[in-house]
Amino acid sequence: MTMTTTTEPIAIELVRTSFFTRWPCTVCGGCTEKVGILAEAQDEHGTIRVCEICLEKGGIDERLEERAGDLESQAGLIRKLIGRLKAPTFAEWMTAERNHEVESFMDIDDLSREEAEAKVHPDYPRGPVEMLPCNHSSDTELPF
Ligand SMILES: [Zn+2]
Repeated sequence: MTMTTTTEPIAIELVRTSFFTRWPCTVCGGCTEKVGILAEAQDEHGTIRVCEICLEKGGIDERLEERAGDLESQAGLIRKLIGRLKAPTFAEWMTAERNHEVESFMDIDDLSREEAEAKVHPDYPRGPVEMLPCNHSSDTELPF
């Protein structure tokens, strides 16, 4: 990883990927298509990526400024939620999620609750961490 200062130019390079998914774009906040060549660089904050739409439209600095303004607005809206969200507990969510899974088996397979309960994995919705859909650790790359 190349370390940069805040004013040092960052060379965005064209890199191959064999993992075809939609990657987040640092510039616009959108995503790439499922392309084989990505425009990326690494800096101390992680991966900087420029999607093909931003490359096509150009005006990268203007697009970055627009995105920064959008994020600042979003930050203000999120701060207004601090202290106001009365969220269900994780245990309440786990129970509701498991009940939903059981009821799905009941509906789809026309099972009794007992039969459906037997089909749902005992650890559902929690399995091994690597099976969870999202990585919520704080040491991964920034979400752009
Ligand atoms: Zn973009």
